[in-house]
Amino acid sequence: MDGVSLETAIELLTSKVAAISEVEELPLSTAVGRIAAENYHATFDNPPFDRSPLDGYALNSSDTPGKFSVVGEECAGDFFDGTVPRGAALRIMTGAAIPRDCDCVIRQEDVTVDGENIFVPIKLRHHENYCFAGEDIRSGALLCAAGLKLTAARIAILASQGVATIKVYRRPRIAIASTGDELIEPNEKLSAGKIYNSNLYLLTARLIEMGFEPKVLGILSDDADVCADKIFSMRNDIDLLITTGGVSVGKKDIMHDVVKKIGEKIFWRVLMKPGAPVIGWTCGKFLGVALSGNPFAAYATFELLTRPVLSKMSRRDELMYKRGRGILADEFPKRSPSRRFIRARVEGDKIFLPSRHESGSLYSAVDCNAFVDIPAGSEPLKIGNEVETILL
Ligand code: AMP
Ligand code: MG
Repeated sequence: MDGVSLETAIELLTSKVAAISEVEELPLSTAVGRIAAENYHATFDNPPFDRSPLDGYALNSSDTPGKFSVVGEECAGDFFDGTVPRGAALRIMTGAAIPRDCDCVIRQEDVTVDGENIFVPIKLRHHENYCFAGEDIRSGALLCAAGLKLTAARIAILASQGVATIKVYRRPRIAIASTGDELIEPNEKLSAGKIYNSNLYLLTARLIEMGFEPKVLGILSDDADVCADKIFSMRNDIDLLITTGGVSVGKKDIMHDVVKKIGEKIFWRVLMKPGAPVIGWTCGKFLGVALSGNPFAAYATFELLTRPVLSKMSRRDELMYKRGRGILADEFPKRSPSRRFIRARVEGDKIFLPSRHESGSLYSAVDCNAFVDIPAGSEPLKIGNEVETILL
């Protein structure tokens, strides 16, 4: 297909991938951000015993107010299994088990100590300052449902139940590469005609920010055979390949030939600016998304086209961008014969625009957090116009 709408492109790409169903078991501490593959239930009440919420004395409320003899001391982690007779108290620290003979705890600041005895000047209620076994989590409660993202709090809850490893869906195996004989890596010396490869760093950083672990293939030369061989050799190890560069109509736009040699094209060109000449393609079991090399074009099409794919593969709805509306606080002086996405900064309901919008420039996008989605056929946009945004 040649020239599809953004929505059609997203539909076509997402129809070629499935939510990953393979499961792996990870130590709990490394599972943050991953998606649970099973339901986890509490196997015991937590806390496991009635315990003191403060540092003080455990005693029987029916004896208060009054004088008590202190029969011992219990810190968190100890277990006092003696008896606390009527008229006696046990010195107790926060988190220690309340002995069965006691029904309340008084703060140590509220008693007067006299040698081995304390004086409790107030009347305490049954179960005053008393934490019950199971008041946090009841045995059988759902701790984490399959499909939920493991946040820090969920991980802590699982840990509190003695869960040491957790089954999660494996992450999509994503490879990324840049094509272009003009590209060099940031640790190399710049020479005439060359530029530093920034796209690959953008993609790497963005994917890591999203919780993925991309396989970075580096710079692929503008030679379709070499490029195709390299990609073909990885076909069984990846689920998704994102490349930048080589997708337009120039002499060195090799991705068309690469796709012809080793894959199948799904579409070429998305009806939008910037980054129109995207190729969606497949090779064996992996999906390829070949983006334009222009840095802002690569950025915009990466966000708009690959986030829905990543969201589906990794079962993470939250990876999908949200749409919003707002009022322009700056003008955009160009007409937009085709649909256009421009970089913007949303603050409250105001939308600020930078002064430069070239697809080759990323500098002006650095503080942006949104795109404005300008429909095809729009006149220049004025301050005060209401527009639709995509929040990144
Ligand atoms: P292409 O899509 O390969 O025709 O490249 C379009 C423009 O983007 C050219 O000016 C390239 O030099 C530039 N470009 C391509 N790839 C990268 C990259 N990885 N990093 C920075 N600029 C790039
Ligand atoms: Mg190129």
